[in-house]
Amino acid sequence: MQPIHANGYDIFFANDGYEALNQFLAGNTYSKIFILTDTNANEFCVPLFLSQLATETAIEIIEIEPGEIHKNIETCTGVWHALTDLGADRKSIIINVGGGVVTDLGGFVAATFKRGIDFIHVPTTLLAMVDAAVGGKNGIDLGNLKNQVGIISTPKMIIFDTGFLSSLPQMEMRSGLAEMLKHGLIADKSYWQKFLNLEAIDFADFDELIYTSVEIKNNIVTQDPTEKGIRKALNFGHTLGHAIESHFLESDDKNTLLHGEAIAVGMVLESYISWQKKYISESEYAEIKSMILGLYGIIPFSETDIDAVVKLLIHDKKNEFGKVQFALLAGIGNAKIDQEADNELIIKAFADYK
Ligand code: NAD
Ligand code: ZN
Repeated sequence: MQPIHANGYDIFFANDGYEALNQFLAGNTYSKIFILTDTNANEFCVPLFLSQLATETAIEIIEIEPGEIHKNIETCTGVWHALTDLGADRKSIIINVGGGVVTDLGGFVAATFKRGIDFIHVPTTLLAMVDAAVGGKNGIDLGNLKNQVGIISTPKMIIFDTGFLSSLPQMEMRSGLAEMLKHGLIADKSYWQKFLNLEAIDFADFDELIYTSVEIKNNIVTQDPTEKGIRKALNFGHTLGHAIESHFLESDDKNTLLHGEAIAVGMVLESYISWQKKYISESEYAEIKSMILGLYGIIPFSETDIDAVVKLLIHDKKNEFGKVQFALLAGIGNAKIDQEADNELIIKAFADYK
C-alpha cells in the first residue's frame, strides 16, 4: 500500500512503516526516544513495536492509565514530569503507541513540552487509525467536556500496523467502524455501499477499507487543516453524538457507551434532520437508519436523557456566537456544513430513533 501524503508528513502502512521509521530515526539525531502508551497498548502492542525498531538511541517507556477518564490535565502533568525526570530535552521525540486517548494526549504533551518537541503516532485501535491519529488535532478533556483544550500540530509520520487490531475487543472495533461509515456518508457513496454489500462485517480482512477511510479523512483535512470550511463535514453525527457521549460519561453509566457508538446514534439523528430539511430523501434516511441500527442496536433514551443531551449541546466546540452548528448530509456521499436545527426538530429526531 502506497504511503498517503498528509500536511508535511506521510502515513505509512505495514512493513513500509517500520522501514520508514528506522530510516527517519537514523537520519535524525534524537537525544532520547520516549514511547508513550497506556497499560493495554503496552501489553499488547509495545513489545511487537519494539521488536521492529532498529535504533541506537536510548528508549524510555512512559505508561498512562487507559480510558477516556484519564485524557485530562492531571495525566499530562504526570507525563511532563516523567519526561523531565527521565532527562527529556528539546531534541527528544515522543512516539505515541496506543488508541485515540494516547495519540490525542501524547500529541498535546509533545506540542507543549518545552514549547514543542517532535512526535510520531502509531495508532493501535481502529478508531485511532481511521480518525484520531490523522489530521493534527490533539488535546484533552475538561471535566466531562470532550476535547475542550488542545492544539493543532502534526506528527513527523504516522505508522499503521493493522496487526495490532488482533487483540482489540470487538466493541472497540465497532466503535471505529462508525467513523468509517461516516467517511462514506459524507464523502464517498460507493465506499458506503461497500459496507451495505458486505455479507457480514468481517474485521479480519479490513486493510483496504481502512486505507480508503484514511484517504478520505486525510483528503479532507489537508484541504482545510484548521476547520474553516470543508473539514467541518467530519463533524457529521458528532454534534448530537458528542452531547450523548458527554451525557453518558457524567451519568452512572460511565464508560458504557463508546465514542463510535454515540456517533452512530448521532448519525441516525442527524440523518433524520437532513431528511426533514429535505437534503436527503426518505429512502436514503431509511437506508442509513436500518444499516446503523442493524449494526449497533437501539440505545434507549428516556425523556430526562434527551433533555440533558439537548442542554449539553450548548457546550459544543463547534458553536459560534452561541448557535449550535451541525454538519448534515446532502445526499449520501455529500455533506452540508454550517447548519442549524431547533430543539423541536432534535426532539422529533429522538422520537423517530426506534
Ligand atoms: P482508547 O485510546 O481509549 O482505546 C480504547 C481501548 O483499547 C483502551 O482501553 C486501550 O487501552 C485499548 N487498546 C488500545 N490498543 C489496543 C490493542 N491493540 N489491543 C487491545 N486493547 C487496546 O480509545 P479510542 O477509541 O482509540 O480513541 C478515542 C479517543 O480518540 C477519544 O478521546 C476521542 O476524543 C479521540 N478522537 C480524536 C480525534 C482527533 O481528530 N484527534 C478524532 C476522533 C477521536
Ligand atoms: Zn469521532
